[in-house]
Amino acid sequence: MNEESIQLELDIEIEEPTKQCRDCYRRKPLSGFNRDRRKTDGRQAYCRPCDNERSRQYGEWFRREHGTDPKSAWRAARKAAEEAVVMRVDRLQFDLLEEAS
Ligand SMILES: [Zn+2]
Repeated sequence: MNEESIQLELDIEIEEPTKQCRDCYRRKPLSGFNRDRRKTDGRQAYCRPCDNERSRQYGEWFRREHGTDPKSAWRAARKAAEEAVVMRVDRLQFDLLEEAS
């Protein structure tokens, strides 16, 4: 590696944008935040350790509130939504059969 490319690497490191965590208020490089495509900067508002802690607390809260973990609840909701679509398609097919006869 020549001197020029070393300098270039240093510059890239210095220029890495930082972001302030909304939980611990520490300023960290963007790489210290999990990705979130919905956010304008593509990163979550909370740094990784804070996000992990929040996820853990959310899981505990959800289990207390709903008696099940968020993942199972999400799977059940998705299954129900899929079944609702199947029922709508069934109804459409039934209506078409009625029209044809
Ligand atoms: Zn944080």
